[in-house]
Amino acid sequence: MVKRGKTIFKSKIKWILALILLTGCIYGSYTLSRYTEADQVEAKQAQVILDAGHGGSDPGKIGLNNLLEKDINLAITKKVKKCLEKEKITAELTRKEDKGLVTTGDGSKKTEDMQARVKMINETKPVLTVSIHQNSYEDPEIHGAQVFYYSHSREGEAVAKILQESLQEIDPENHRQAKANETYYLLRRTKVPTVIVECGFLTNPEEAEKLSGEEYQEQVAEAVAKGIAKCLEYLNEYGN
Ligand SMILES: [Zn+2]
Repeated sequence: MVKRGKTIFKSKIKWILALILLTGCIYGSYTLSRYTEADQVEAKQAQVILDAGHGGSDPGKIGLNNLLEKDINLAITKKVKKCLEKEKITAELTRKEDKGLVTTGDGSKKTEDMQARVKMINETKPVLTVSIHQNSYEDPEIHGAQVFYYSHSREGEAVAKILQESLQEIDPENHRQAKANETYYLLRRTKVPTVIVECGFLTNPEEAEKLSGEEYQEQVAEAVAKGIAKCLEYLNEYGN
């Protein structure tokens, strides 16, 4: 009787141990999977960097009715980010408010500001960088969005053309073509495909009026975001 009792006791212990072990394994793998998921989210860098041109003491172009380029750039840039989020495309902004990237310093602030933007882009290594600007010209007739790319970047050229096409959809009168540029600092110094989108001319009365309003900003942002989604598909397939 005693012996049998001991055997039952032993086998009960075995079962309890097995159960503890099993629970431990399940819990362990659960927490492990949670950690890896969290790490992955953190490690996943932004696919796109959106750069709202100018900011703070640098207003950019000053258009009709004293429209400041920096304000329109930021408004459109934030809208582009929202549109991209809906498409599950991660985007990071170089600035989120009316501030340059360098807030102290002297006359070389503009240079430092541009260097800081380039540094952020090169460290984040996004698939694509899109810098948002507004144009101006002495002739008020001139209007229409235009996308610029670095002359020596084959990928830059391809994505600029995709974005130009997307922007033409909201303004069929715009016959501008994506244009190569050799000198812009941001285009020359970034190590990832980078384009500058000049959304329109603040010196054209009609376009300036439209660009200062929510509705057209929204349309431009959607066109840019749609273009970016296509650019990412292109770069995933043909990019380096
Ligand atoms: Zn600008």
